[in-house]
Amino acid sequence: MKVLVVNAGSSSIKYQVFDMTDESVLAKGLVDRVGIPGTTLKHEPAGKDDVLIKKDLPNHTEGMKLVLEVLINEEYGCMKSMDEVGAVGHRVVHGGEDFAASVVINDKVKKVIRDCFDVAPLHNPPNLMGIEACQELMPNVPHVAVFDTAFHQTMTAGNFMYALPYDVYEKYKVRRYGFHGTSHFYVSHRAADMLGKPYADCKIVTLHLGNGASMAAIKDGRVIDTSMGFTPLEGLVMGTRSGDIDPAIVFFLMEKLNMDASEANNYFNKKSGLLGLSGVSNDLRDILEAADAGNERAQLALDVYYNKIKGYIGNYIAKLNGCDCLVFTAGVGENGIDVRENICKDLDALGIKMDAAKNKVRGKEVDVAADDSKVRIFIIPTNEELVIARDTYGLAK
Ligand code: AMP
Repeated sequence: MKVLVVNAGSSSIKYQVFDMTDESVLAKGLVDRVGIPGTTLKHEPAGKDDVLIKKDLPNHTEGMKLVLEVLINEEYGCMKSMDEVGAVGHRVVHGGEDFAASVVINDKVKKVIRDCFDVAPLHNPPNLMGIEACQELMPNVPHVAVFDTAFHQTMTAGNFMYALPYDVYEKYKVRRYGFHGTSHFYVSHRAADMLGKPYADCKIVTLHLGNGASMAAIKDGRVIDTSMGFTPLEGLVMGTRSGDIDPAIVFFLMEKLNMDASEANNYFNKKSGLLGLSGVSNDLRDILEAADAGNERAQLALDVYYNKIKGYIGNYIAKLNGCDCLVFTAGVGENGIDVRENICKDLDALGIKMDAAKNKVRGKEVDVAADDSKVRIFIIPTNEELVIARDTYGLAK
């Protein structure tokens, strides 16, 4: 069976086609600037040259129509007819408390996705647009939702509740949800394979360090804790997101900078983090370069970034009461040689010792811990699309 994986953002659609007989990727691509003049589709068929198509597309349905045309194109497509696709898997960011696993999409599931618009306003509306566009164009195959929040639903209330009046949980479901779940799921399972131990016996700390960043602590096959919270704003320092701060800063700055709630939301999500602190960029490569060239604020941004992560490593090892391995993944985690080295520096009291020579590697599945390190340090390239394809295939069968 072939499975189409779709990740629809507010103005983009990413897609991959898997042949589930051997889990190979037949084609992948990205439609960018959907609904904005200057739409482009970049299509990357396996074993053939990439294709770039420029065509203004007013909405997600038109975007998906073009994707389907490209997928069955005689010259650069990857199948003869869309009838070869047995199921479609959709990335959905927020599934609230209703979903601890992937599900076949029906009206009830769509209602839950819609009910979460309030708490995931940037992600769930375009995710649903993508689902509805695909359902319209492919009405006869199962569509599956794979939620970023699902893997973290194993947290107990002792870790997911905030110390707020209890009724805001009952009325508004204010609690920690956690995100990047599909990535934490994938890399933690790969880590168990690399440890050669059953997943349920492993104590794992995963570090998904990309433009957005989160960590998770996994024990007994369950997520014990994760750093993103009610929204993806909490936790680590990110490209443009502040991560953890004293919540009183929000009220203070709303008054001082004369911001309303939506402006404040934008301020802490879009103008803070590495960008706000360094004044250089939200891209960690630019910050590393600027710090190397002597830019003090860039160095300060890195120091805050590293310290926050080190703090979470200690926090999670305490909660796990031990640790078999750290796992670095996503853009920074897979490629940031200096970043990994700085994070792991001076953690030998926790049994973490990196081999600096082994660490000089990018984007490969490898153990970079010193031989005498008690905790293994793995780099594992994430593969969220493969998890979505597997879940979709499993439910469609
Ligand atoms: P992602 O969101 O997973 O695509 O990751 C994007 C982030 O990865 C950006 O902040 C990039 O600067 C960062 N990144 C990519 N390559 C490197 C590298 N060689 N060193 C450090 N950071 C990197």
